[in-house]
Amino acid sequence: MKHYKHLFFDLDHTLWDFETNSEATLREMFDSYQLERFFDDYNDFHARYEVHNLFLWAQYRKNKVTKKTLNLQRFHLPFSEVGFDDIMVAQQFANDYLNISATKTLLFPNTLDVLEILKSKYQLHIITNGFKEVQNKKLENSGLRQFFTNIFISELIGVQKPDKYFFDYSVKSSHANPKECLVIGDSLEADIKGARKAGIDQVFFNSKGLEHNEEITYEINNLQELLTFL
Ligand SMILES: [Mg+2]
Repeated sequence: MKHYKHLFFDLDHTLWDFETNSEATLREMFDSYQLERFFDDYNDFHARYEVHNLFLWAQYRKNKVTKKTLNLQRFHLPFSEVGFDDIMVAQQFANDYLNISATKTLLFPNTLDVLEILKSKYQLHIITNGFKEVQNKKLENSGLRQFFTNIFISELIGVQKPDKYFFDYSVKSSHANPKECLVIGDSLEADIKGARKAGIDQVFFNSKGLEHNEEITYEINNLQELLTFL
């Protein structure tokens, strides 16, 4: 068994249940903004939002749009599609979405118990591409902050995962050697490929049972499985 000293966890979709928390936020806001005036129903709104959100995130990762544009347009574009072209409301909605979603605290099963055990044996760190204002609030509100020595946020480093520099920087700042590090994340692209390029072993958190052909050091379906080899 390899001797790891540092574990680098992705946050969204790995510890913090992004999908459920985001869904709860958008449902609440669909009602409070009375969006049923414009969309057939919540699912209609969500499907349209999803298309723009995915596209804009891809553009953001390539540095083709700013964070501000991403956050505004992922709501302004679906609103406009259904004849609700009000940039002020879209901006307010975008701000509220970030603020409200950061107050949501649902984590994947056993997250806190597993981290409690791992914390006694390893130094734990967060590596995330999310927005800095939001990620810090999420960590505080959900009780995760106490477990982690360092929080590495792409916005503050200047590049996003899977850029090799992101991992090199995080490892170096933790006074670690890549060989004694392990990256745990749900994204084959951002987390797994990124870590591999930087010479770091990887754990793919495959909670949805995605099929793939990647060569990965370890693969798990729930966080508790980490304790079988760590
Ligand atoms: Mg993730």
